[in-house]
Amino acid sequence: MASDAVRARMVQRLAAQGIADARVLRAMGTVERHLFVDSALVNQAYEDTSLPIGLGQTISKPNVVARMIELLLGAPALAGKPGDRLGRVLEIGTGCGYQAAVLSHVASEVYSIERLRGLHERARANLRPFRLATVHLLLGDGMIGYAKGAPYAGIIAAAGGEAVPEAWIAQLAVGGRIVAPTQSATGGQALVVIDKTARGAERRILEAVHFVPLKSGIA
Ligand code: SAH
Repeated sequence: MASDAVRARMVQRLAAQGIADARVLRAMGTVERHLFVDSALVNQAYEDTSLPIGLGQTISKPNVVARMIELLLGAPALAGKPGDRLGRVLEIGTGCGYQAAVLSHVASEVYSIERLRGLHERARANLRPFRLATVHLLLGDGMIGYAKGAPYAGIIAAAGGEAVPEAWIAQLAVGGRIVAPTQSATGGQALVVIDKTARGAERRILEAVHFVPLKSGIA
């Protein structure tokens, strides 16, 4: 698939929808999203839609991926540094590996953890041709984070639970930020941003979202 033109159009649409961070737009314009989805879905890869990736899971629509990474880059440690990369990032829910590839363009190191062996292996296969030396794929329960890579400059979750696990806050660096879907008071899901500062954790609840559930244990 000659994807450069369709991907450029996707980036234009993201900008029109309000994504303003040049680092995010550049990363979204670089990663070939169609290489991460089933061949039957390739023609939809650049549309603003979520897509099935197998085992009942989905890849978020481009707008949501871009929005969450833009929020992550707003971490206190990067405030006023529009050209800088984030340090180490932890992603909960590797899925097909697409978001991990995007993150590798804005962070120095990406640890991505998946609880389903089938998807962990699919992501490994999807990412192999990209030879991204800074992306580390792990099979495990992301609810407990990944202590060996801590502290993280950013933690981003692609699955939503009842609350943000304490382990994530513990593994976050001071100046770092968590962006995660979490159950809201009304029973739906909303994006939560948690900044870790010298004074403690500061939490903000943003727009409503729809993510697959965060589950414990591996399968
Ligand atoms: N970022 C992914 C989206 C994957 S969907 C992509 O770009 O494709 C969310 C993923 O989170 C699913 O694959 C699901 O299995 C995984 N997940 C849910 N709970 C988890 C947990 N506790 N630890 C790790 N992965 C989890």
